[in-house]
This record gives sequence, C-alpha cells and structure tokens, in this order.
Amino acid sequence: MELGGLHHLTAVTTEAGKNVEFYTGVLGMRLVKKTVNQDDVSAYHLFYGDEVGNPGTEITFFDWPHLRVAKNHPGTGEVSTTELRVPDRAALEWWAGRLEEAGVPHAGIQNGTGRPHLDFQDPEGQRLRLSEDRGEGTRGGVPWDASAVPEEYGIRGLGSVDLTVRELEPTEWTLTEALGFRKMDEQKESGGRTATFEVGPGGPGATVRVLERPGAGLAHLGRGGVHHVAFRTPDDEEHARWREKIRAMGLGVTPQIDRFYFRSIYFREPGGILFEIATDGPGFATDEDPAHLGERLSLPPFLEGRREEIESRLTPV
Ligand code: ZN
Repeated sequence: MELGGLHHLTAVTTEAGKNVEFYTGVLGMRLVKKTVNQDDVSAYHLFYGDEVGNPGTEITFFDWPHLRVAKNHPGTGEVSTTELRVPDRAALEWWAGRLEEAGVPHAGIQNGTGRPHLDFQDPEGQRLRLSEDRGEGTRGGVPWDASAVPEEYGIRGLGSVDLTVRELEPTEWTLTEALGFRKMDEQKESGGRTATFEVGPGGPGATVRVLERPGAGLAHLGRGGVHHVAFRTPDDEEHARWREKIRAMGLGVTPQIDRFYFRSIYFREPGGILFEIATDGPGFATDEDPAHLGERLSLPPFLEGRREEIESRLTPV
C-alpha cells in the first residue's frame, strides 16, 4: 500500500470572481468544477485542474468573503508554498514574461538548490511556484486545449508543497512512519532545517518539503492561505486501510466522507497542518459532460433539492 503522490490542495479566496479570472485567465487552468463547500453551502468551492481535473492536478478554493480583511498570517503549521509543474526551461521563461505582462511580480527564475523555479503570488497573496518537471515524477496532467496558455507551456498539476513547522521530527514521523514517505535530503539553513520527502514514484507530483522554523510564530489562516493538502489513494479498500493505520498510530482521523467527486479522510499532523487522503475516483465527469465541466453550479445529490436556495445566496461567477 503506497500513496500515489499529491491529490489536491485547498486554499482560501475571498473574491471568487477575481480568483476565477486569475487561475483560468492568467494561469490557464481549467475551472473543472464550480460547487459549494459541503460543510458551508453559502461558500463556493472552486476546482481548477487539467482538462478533466485528473487527480494530482487540482488546486481548489473555498470562497470565504468574511476573511477579506484577514490576510493570511504566515508562520508555522501551514502549507507555505504550493508548487505547480511546467515542462521545461522554455516554459519557465515563457511564464516569466506572461506574469510580467499580467502585472504579477515575480522573483525571476531561480537556479539554486532543487529544480529551476519561479516564485510569485496570486492577487490575494497565495504563495505559488512554477517549477520544471522535465517529464519526471508522477504522470503529469494534460492541459486543457481551450486554455489561454499554449499547450507546450501549460501547467501540468501539483509539483510539491512546502510545509512550515516549528519542529521537524513530529512531521517527519507522520510522513515517514504513518504515510510511507522516504526522506531524501536534509539541509541546515540559517532559519532552521529543510528536509525533502518523496512517496510512490517520487519527483514532481510526489514531493513534500518540510521547512523547520523554530523561531517563527504560528500561522493564522486567512485570505491567501492554504486550508489543507490531500494525498492520493487508488480505491476504497486502500482508503479504509489508511484510515485504520492512521487511527492505530494515535492520530485522530475522520470517518470516510463522500465528497461525491472523490472520498476523503482528514487528520491533523502534529505540526498543525491538516492532511487529507482522497480516492482517485470517481472524478469530475460523474455529474457533468466533460466538454462542459464547471460551467454551471454542480451540487451533490443530497444538496440538489436545495439548489434554488443555495444559488440565491451565491454571487454568480
Ligand atoms: Zn480536500
């Protein structure tokens, strides 16, 4: 039993309309599903991914307008950077120009440790990174052919995430002992240590970096922050075994929750970050024609009877 890498990442927006504009218009991802937060149906849940939202390609957002004045406070206990994968150097160079044209500041292509990458933020301060995958790692997604970005430069999904924690060991224990990650590297830096972990095929799509920052304060989730990160498992049978394993290790874990497009379990790792394990299927085309994903509000069957009420409380995007 082995996790297949990253499944999706869920972050916070406070302006759904602008969020759609940025992720589809500037980044050229496909809005594969427009639904509501099942635990708070007054909020949109927006999913962006490749042409069909394959597992491992999705970045998703809860729209929480009440956090508009509460900018995410960075620190420990959070996903501090989300890396998206692009094919190669030519793509990174193209993206540097595209971000400039769109008025998005960036730090230039960095060639230091790790893969060449380009750091920038979305309009709400979401910390993002584009990184060369060179076709390595998990199978990358397929950019949508109607994307505003030429296919050869298109984003192919999640590459890795950075987790910032106060102390490396408890999070390392969770990743290696509970979730089967392999520790690949540890570096000492001025502010603490950084360790790299891989799971399954490793490389892009299956990498987690842990940044230990003992001197930093606790992160406070707000606008532009990340809510949780999810890892892949193929089916319900392995999902149940993961749940049992995590429970037996003394980490409180939720029952399996049916998110309709996939099934989920959640637990908080000791460094304070919310982890999810999600099944690869059934996928986003279960309730919509693949040619028209994300065009109308999708509701899981148990909410369909409340469509009129739910739609009346949402601002159309
Ligand atoms: Zn999730």
